[in-house]
Amino acid sequence: MQDVIVVGAGNAAFSAALAARERVERVLVLEKAPREWLGGNSYFTAGAFRMVFEGLDDLRSILDTLSDEQAEEIELPPYTARDFMADMQRVTQGRSDPELASILVNESMETARWLHSKGLRWTLLYARQAYRVNGKLRFWGGLNVGIEGGGKGLIEQQLAAAQAHGIEVRYDAPVVELLRDASGHISGVVCQGPRGREEIMGHAVVLASGGFEADPRLRAMYLGPNWDIAKVRGTPYNTGEVLQMALAAGAQPYGHWSGCHATAWDAAAPPVGDRELTNLLTKQSYPLGLVVNAEGQRFVDEGADFRNYTYAKYGAEILRQPGAIAYQLFDAKTEPLLRQDEYTAPGVSRFEAGSIGELAQKLGVSVEALEYTVSQFNGAVQAGEFNPAIKDGKKTIGIQPPKSNWAQPLDTPPYYGFAVTCGITFTFGGLRIDMDAQVLDRAGQPIGGLYAAGELVGGLFYHNYPGGSGLMAGSVFGRRAGSGAARHALAKQVATAG
Ligand SMILES: Cc1cc2nc3c(=O)[nH]c(=O)nc-3n(C[C@H](O)[C@H](O)[C@H](O)COP(=O)(O)OP(=O)(O)OC[C@H]3O[C@@H](n4cnc5c(N)ncnc54)[C@H](O)[C@@H]3O)c2cc1C
Repeated sequence: MQDVIVVGAGNAAFSAALAARERVERVLVLEKAPREWLGGNSYFTAGAFRMVFEGLDDLRSILDTLSDEQAEEIELPPYTARDFMADMQRVTQGRSDPELASILVNESMETARWLHSKGLRWTLLYARQAYRVNGKLRFWGGLNVGIEGGGKGLIEQQLAAAQAHGIEVRYDAPVVELLRDASGHISGVVCQGPRGREEIMGHAVVLASGGFEADPRLRAMYLGPNWDIAKVRGTPYNTGEVLQMALAAGAQPYGHWSGCHATAWDAAAPPVGDRELTNLLTKQSYPLGLVVNAEGQRFVDEGADFRNYTYAKYGAEILRQPGAIAYQLFDAKTEPLLRQDEYTAPGVSRFEAGSIGELAQKLGVSVEALEYTVSQFNGAVQAGEFNPAIKDGKKTIGIQPPKSNWAQPLDTPPYYGFAVTCGITFTFGGLRIDMDAQVLDRAGQPIGGLYAAGELVGGLFYHNYPGGSGLMAGSVFGRRAGSGAARHALAKQVATAG
């Protein structure tokens, strides 16, 4: 008999397992994927976690390697609970569940400290979230801290922590059924792996098995037409069957079932995540340039906000374009500012030309249409100082869609074009949980012994998402789920002994 069974082995699962292990002895993690695919979507991430902090001094307790000299040259605006909550409500159009969002926001820093106490190593996101302005490294966008080594480092460090705490992790162990006792409480799971069918009994079960983004049929069913042709940015194993099992067991669906996180993703990327390149196939410097579709037309405000607040919804905009393809355009002025790791990664769909017409030809876009779009755009750019580290208000006037910040004419050869398509990250619809991360049934009552965290929880994200919130939500609610499940297990042990 296990005390706590955790389903999945990504960030939410490891957070739950580590929290459970603080209270109970026998914690078992069951992972569907083989060992070489360990870590779910969490492995593919940049390891960026959104958290509240007062300023650099507040963060120094978790930044082990930051020297005084490095600190001297950093400008890091505080990111307060009020800022984080405002971002959550703004990007979700006011729909994020206020109680869940408030837990996410208010426990973010404390959870980062807790992960640090488990051996996770934090760093500032120098390459992703800072520009050098007037000799200082100026951080922007509220998302400034991540795990050393990105998603690969995150999973390696979490696995090491799990092993150090005596948590067993089994691979090739897909959960295919939830077991219930006579009173309807969850009493274990059934695994159906290469070793055959096995019933594993446990006092409590934490579901942390991701969303349904890797199942084309479920994508088409819930997200709508053409989502089945989107590329999957991460693990192919998040196919939603545990979510379906929980619903079949009476769990309440919650959140934005027709919504998801999807970004601009290299058009030549494989159909599912690449374990070597992981997040490098993303293309997130578009606020510095122009984005056009295959007809040479712009279709989004590239500079509506920092990329942290637009990238997760612009994948859907690309999917809506002819052929589900788009081109990000830059020139000699902006190319040096691109995230070089993303824009020069091996196999990236990168094109270079001496004129806009030549670039159009190379991209397969109508020369006339692209030259017209660019000349209209260039003519609409207003004067002002370009500064990528702040919302500089340097915008266009008189064109649709506008570009609201960082608008510069595309006029300095060589020109660069990058072909992108829609890459789905994770789905927003999920299970309803209470404040202890217990799964609720359709009458709003907790299902005894069942907890959930991570992507398969609904209610936090609608329409869009503030970058770095997925990992933090997985850890905050994973920790709560693990603690709650362990308390439930202890109560069961007492009841059984009595
Ligand atoms: C390319 C990329 C970059 C990203 N970058 C960031 C970032 O920098 N910051 C951020 O906050 N978010 C980022 N995200 C989003 C982030 O990955 C997710 O929010 C987060 O990792 C979800 O964690 P999770 O533990 O819920 O799911 P996962 O990490 O996906 O783990 C779920 C696990 O469950 C397993 N599983 C599935 N079905 C079963 C079953 N039947 N039985 C047993 N196990 C099962 C899966 O194999 C998987 O290992 C990124 C995502 C991608 C794809």
